[in-house]
Amino acid sequence: MVEPALTKNDRSPVTIADFAAQALIGKMLLETFPHDAFVAEEDPQTFTGPQAPETLGRVGHFLSRFTGDVTPENICKWIGHGQMAPAKRYWTLDPIDGTKGFLRGDQYAVALALVVDGKVQLGVLGCPNLKDSRTPDVGGKGTISFAARSKGAWTASLSGSQQWQPLKVSGRKTFEEAIILRSYEARHTDTSRTSQLMQKLGVRKPPLLMDSLAKYSVLASNEADLLLRFPTDEHPYECIWDQAAGVVIVEEAGGKVTDLEGKALDFSQGRFLLANRGVLVSNGHLHTQTVEALKKHVLKA
Ligand code: AMP
Ligand code: MG
Repeated sequence: MVEPALTKNDRSPVTIADFAAQALIGKMLLETFPHDAFVAEEDPQTFTGPQAPETLGRVGHFLSRFTGDVTPENICKWIGHGQMAPAKRYWTLDPIDGTKGFLRGDQYAVALALVVDGKVQLGVLGCPNLKDSRTPDVGGKGTISFAARSKGAWTASLSGSQQWQPLKVSGRKTFEEAIILRSYEARHTDTSRTSQLMQKLGVRKPPLLMDSLAKYSVLASNEADLLLRFPTDEHPYECIWDQAAGVVIVEEAGGKVTDLEGKALDFSQGRFLLANRGVLVSNGHLHTQTVEALKKHVLKA
């Protein structure tokens, strides 16, 4: 079990890995696309407490394995680069999505996406504890998945030793054989509404519980058919970085992503998906019926 470095104001844990991944990717984006906006989850203000020097030291120690120029000022600059507002064209990053899964030694993902005019154009998902984009494999070589709008979606081993394979969603057309993906953390969704929907649709298989955007990777590779995120009182709107990379990967693998009412996700509303409630991801075949059942039986209740 990895220890959280700090606890954020919303009481969620954050680790050295969250800060280091955001610093490294922030540095690369600053150097490669200096004119693009960058919107990332972690805030260097989190470093202002008494643990700050020690945390910065640990982040720096880790970063030195991958890059030069590692000073406390540069680390704060690279992490702080991600505090920009979303613009016409911007990158969005969740440096470690599923931090609770990461701490538990379970699924987590590093998720980066490029958004232009409110629509995701590129998405990359690194899932170190997932094999072949679909099977949990803690401590294994991991999976990287990538998609570019209108070009396709592919996956390969994070070890770099494998050819890129195209991703394709399932062809399952009945709810009887369908598998639903849901957050491992019950507090991150609405489990009673998930159960209610499954009953109305006649889904028989138990839901697959998984942390992070790894769920999108699993759905894009034919291993599951539906993914549901219900809003909660604590978290009424989705953060853009929690969905963006997965959206284009699933869509380019042949699937469909909307909110729970069937509306397209609008990434032009700021750091949250303020124009949408919840998220529904599917293999495409099961989408319309699921939206109808949600509207008729679940969302009104
Ligand atoms: P998951 O890995 O599916 O559990 O989703 C992780 C994401 O859920 C985190 O990155 C958070 O942004 C988001 N989240 C955190 N707390 C909540 C909550 N109470 N309700 C819904 N989503 C949450
Ligand atoms: Mg996240």
